[in-house]
Amino acid sequence: MAVSETDLIYLSAAEQARRVRAGEVSSRQLTEAYLARIADMDGEIGAYVTIEGDRALARADHIDAALAGANGHPDQLGPLAGVPIALKDILVTEGIKTTAASAILADWIPPYDGTVVSRLSRAGAVLLGKLNLDEFAMGSSTENSAIKTCRNPWDRSRVPGGSSGGSAAAVVSFQCAASLGTDTGGSIRQPSAFCGIVGLKPTYGLVSRYGVIAFASSLDQVGPMARTVEDVALLLEVIAGFDPHDSTSIDRPVPRYRDALGRGVSGLTIGLPDEYFAGGVDAEVARAVEAAIATYQTLGAKTVPVSLPHTKYALPTYYLVAPAEASSNLARFDGVRYGLRRSETDDSQKVGLFDMYCKTRGAGFGPEVKRRIMLGTFALRSGYYDAYYLKAQQVRTLIRRDFERAFETVDLLLAPTTPTPAFAVGEKMANPLDMYLADIFTLSCNLAGLPGMNVPCGFTESGLPIGMQLLGKPLGEETMLAAAAAFEREIGAIGAGGVPTRRPPEVSS
Ligand code: GLN
Repeated sequence: MAVSETDLIYLSAAEQARRVRAGEVSSRQLTEAYLARIADMDGEIGAYVTIEGDRALARADHIDAALAGANGHPDQLGPLAGVPIALKDILVTEGIKTTAASAILADWIPPYDGTVVSRLSRAGAVLLGKLNLDEFAMGSSTENSAIKTCRNPWDRSRVPGGSSGGSAAAVVSFQCAASLGTDTGGSIRQPSAFCGIVGLKPTYGLVSRYGVIAFASSLDQVGPMARTVEDVALLLEVIAGFDPHDSTSIDRPVPRYRDALGRGVSGLTIGLPDEYFAGGVDAEVARAVEAAIATYQTLGAKTVPVSLPHTKYALPTYYLVAPAEASSNLARFDGVRYGLRRSETDDSQKVGLFDMYCKTRGAGFGPEVKRRIMLGTFALRSGYYDAYYLKAQQVRTLIRRDFERAFETVDLLLAPTTPTPAFAVGEKMANPLDMYLADIFTLSCNLAGLPGMNVPCGFTESGLPIGMQLLGKPLGEETMLAAAAAFEREIGAIGAGGVPTRRPPEVSS
């Protein structure tokens, strides 16, 4: 199918890769189309914090030249050759500003690429720029960004979710072919649900965190966010796998995830956890997820109720473990090694080192990050460790056992990803607990180290996306992806083929 130059942006990443390889389109054409789209669109959305136009075009030309030189052997070029992507700005990129959306890192230019970044680059991807997030990935709406607010492309008065809100918004508004996010307690799945895209949080240890600015090390994972299940599988193949630079990295061969997409769900048993359907879920979300369950039954899966009795402790457990680890991880941003600017150095001579320390940290971190550091430092104080952090780790074991027990009888779990569709900008900023509750269904997966993904499953009457969550056994990504692909074949994906009929509104002029 011939596609006009401007419509190239709607193609899936896999389809773009196929066309580049076949010589039907150049990487420069794709890159120019996306840069034009960003120039057109992102003023209204706020997904990008850094755009690397010249660098991206130079890289695209390099790929095009390599392709021309490959003389009928394009396979040497890697599975993403020429495809323009963008990355959450918590992933460390050599020579490109990496801010974590924090004032304290506003000018930091890393001297190296994180492992996922170098793997994408080896696969031939073209990096368009870096995407907005909640500061240090703490939040559920991207409103905690120190740089700017990001808006939901479907309704600009609403949030895109968070913390990988920029990644979700950029993907669904066709400002990149695909992206990566990070997920510590839901930050890939929740914004994917709010924006109507596919997002996958891998099994803990499947994807390297070397060169990912750490939030809570026992929970953090990097994962793909894209418009189709195939794209997510393709990106996962590229970024997954052992890395000696990350001591938590799993040393096992990476499957070719795309091979699993056609397997279907017949014969699978899908568990429906009572605790995730127990009320407090928006009626339209509940209805869409119920309809998805019925679809799976039609496709030959068996669905059974299961119980995860410790679910109610996930939120308090997460909000002890994550801030405790964050307070320790963020201690490196002490205003000396990172984040100190010349003018502040000069001040220090006058005000003394301690005052300068307080001043730079005070000016460097936003309110949510300070709240987490205080919470975490409190929980780890000598004499309190047993009562808080240790207790939380014990409850975490109970939560993990709930899943182990459930997975003795089921292959997958299915639940809503979020209790509500995207909420309004500003709605939850005054009440941190309200904001924390936006991740009530996604936190347990990280506490248990399991893989999870958001799969779009419909829209509200007012046109907001709704997502369902699939949770798998450890390293059960193939089963999860197979089930996601089977569902997607039923309801269709945004931008799998030509210009999608249902897509976010264009720029208001
Ligand atoms: N919203 C959760 C938090 O604020 C999860 C964030 C994340 O997954 N990075 O901690």
